[in-house]
Amino acid sequence: MNAASASRQDAQAPAPLCPACGAPVVSIDTSVEVKYRVHYAITAQDLEVICEQVGDSGWDEETTAECDACGWHGTVGDLLAGR
Ligand SMILES: [Zn+2]
Repeated sequence: MNAASASRQDAQAPAPLCPACGAPVVSIDTSVEVKYRVHYAITAQDLEVICEQVGDSGWDEETTAECDACGWHGTVGDLLAGR
């Protein structure tokens, strides 16, 4: 966790989120696709990145979520069920 995300949590009123233990903060695992354009740099004798494109990221109800406090594993849909 970095300082930016910690201060964001401080600004919100904590609401129970984890279905198992009620922890207000859970983790959502997602991944971002990055496409690199490279060329061969003769001086470095290695591939050199010319530019990189970061793909869209996000989550839906099927995305895996887990609670750091109690170890609960589920989906984003589980977190929002009943709200
Ligand atoms: Zn929990």
